[in-house]
Amino acid sequence: MSQSVLDTNVLVLNRFYMAIRVVNVRRTFTLLYRDCAEVIDNENDQYVSYDFDSWCELSQLTSIEKQPGEEYIQAVNFELRVPRIVRLIRFDKMPMQTVRFNRKNLFARDEHKCQYCGKSEPAHKLSLDHVVPRSHGGPTTWENIVCCCLRCNSRKGGRTPKQARMKLLSAPIKPRVNPVLVQSMNDPRYACWKTFLPAAG
Ligand SMILES: [Zn+2]
Repeated sequence: MSQSVLDTNVLVLNRFYMAIRVVNVRRTFTLLYRDCAEVIDNENDQYVSYDFDSWCELSQLTSIEKQPGEEYIQAVNFELRVPRIVRLIRFDKMPMQTVRFNRKNLFARDEHKCQYCGKSEPAHKLSLDHVVPRSHGGPTTWENIVCCCLRCNSRKGGRTPKQARMKLLSAPIKPRVNPVLVQSMNDPRYACWKTFLPAAG
């Protein structure tokens, strides 16, 4: 596994059990440690909440006999189980509605795949391409920006796909659901999120 467990995802719910964002494990433990959040754990199809101290205690018990899908990080003298869902207890943040227009979400929407040649690349080997270049009046919107490998990007230059004779794999659209969430759903460790997410359809 190349990705550190500390960089994997945790779903954050607001007080009303509505999904508000995704953060990494590092950030999650800060929230728990400061008593800003509690862990929501699925146990025999029931959701049980734990504050940080009781989660540490539980971790020590469950680490003796780890279950598939559970991940742990090494704390000072015991193993701390990685939660997959936490709930904010102090703030009434609003649920996710519009998907933020940013690099991370654009890459996730296009599944880190160049929309011209179809090659999958890690984020640092990808760039974002204005389909209709800005010099031709192309806007910076979901519908006009795609994920593009560096090679295709330099090949296309400041031209339209037609001028460059390059075809898009699919027409870019504005996602209705946070694409980082959608991508995470393919990973079994985030299956427990499903209950808290709005239906993708
Ligand atoms: Zn490409």
